[in-house]
Amino acid sequence: MGQKKHTVRFYSILLALTLLIFGYTLYLCLRPQPVSSKEESSSGSSMSSGVSEEKPPSESSSGPVSDGRIGGTDLPWWSMEEENVDNLDPDKPIVALTFDDGPSQYTKRIVDTLTEYNSKATFFVMGYRLEEYGENTLYAFNHGMEIGNHSYSHKQFVGLNQHSINQQMNDTNKLIKDLTGKEPRLYRPPYGRINQMILSKIPMAAILWNVDPQDGKAYDAQEIVDNVMEDVKDGSIILLHDVYEKTADALDILLPKLIEEGYQVTNVSQMFACRGEPIEINQKYYFLTDMKAVNCTY
Ligand SMILES: [Zn+2]
Repeated sequence: MGQKKHTVRFYSILLALTLLIFGYTLYLCLRPQPVSSKEESSSGSSMSSGVSEEKPPSESSSGPVSDGRIGGTDLPWWSMEEENVDNLDPDKPIVALTFDDGPSQYTKRIVDTLTEYNSKATFFVMGYRLEEYGENTLYAFNHGMEIGNHSYSHKQFVGLNQHSINQQMNDTNKLIKDLTGKEPRLYRPPYGRINQMILSKIPMAAILWNVDPQDGKAYDAQEIVDNVMEDVKDGSIILLHDVYEKTADALDILLPKLIEEGYQVTNVSQMFACRGEPIEINQKYYFLTDMKAVNCTY
C-alpha cells in the first residue's frame, strides 16, 4: 500500500511539473513581444495592417528622424516617483484634463487659465503643429503641463502599416524631446482608435478618455461646460481640444466650477501618481480605476 502511495505521489509531482513547464512555455509564446530594431513594413503608402514581410530599417521617406523603433527604449519607463504630487490630496476627488490636436494660437491662453486656478493638464500634441506653434507647447511645458504624443499628422493608426505608425510616433516624440528635453511616455491615438496589436508595438501608454463633451461640435462654451459637468466623476479623463476659441472660453467657466464641486484638476500622470496607480507600458487607460479594457477598438 505504502509503495502504491509513493508511486501516486511521484506521478502527481511529475504531472504538476509538466503542467508548470507547459504553462510557462505558453506564457513565453503569448506575452507581448518587445519592439525590435527591425520593423514590419509593407510599401510606404500601403494601408494594409496584415502580415507583412520584415525588413531592416530603411531611410524615412517623410521625416528625418525615424529609425524604425519607437521611443528611447533605453530610457527608464514612467515612474510615479518622478511626479511631484505634494499639492494633491489622494482622498479628494480628482480629474485629468487633456487637450488634443494642438498646439495652436489658443494654447497659451488655456495654459494661463490653468495656472490661474493652480491646475494642470496633459496636452497631446501633433508633430506638424509643433512646426508652427512649438513655442506654445514649450510655454505649456514650462508651466508644469504634461506633453504627450498625438501622432504627426492625425492619421488613423488602425489600418495603417507599422512603418507609418512608427514614423508618426517617432517624428513627434523627437520634436517633443528637442523642444522640452523630455521624451513623452504617453500618447493618444488619433480618433482614440487603437487595437491590441498596435498597443503591443508602441512602447508607451495609450491614454483614452471617459468624458467627451464634444467641444468641436458644441454650440458654445456653456454647452461644453454643461456636457462635462453631466458626465464627470472622480478619476475621469476629460477630452478637450486646444484648437477652439470656445474651448478656451469654456475653461474660464469650467475650472472654477470643477474646483467648487471639490475636484482637483491635474494632468494624467499626476492623477495616477497621486493615487499610487501605475501607468504601464503597452497598456491603455480610459480613466483612473478599472482602466484596462481588454478588447479594444475604441
Ligand atoms: Zn485628435
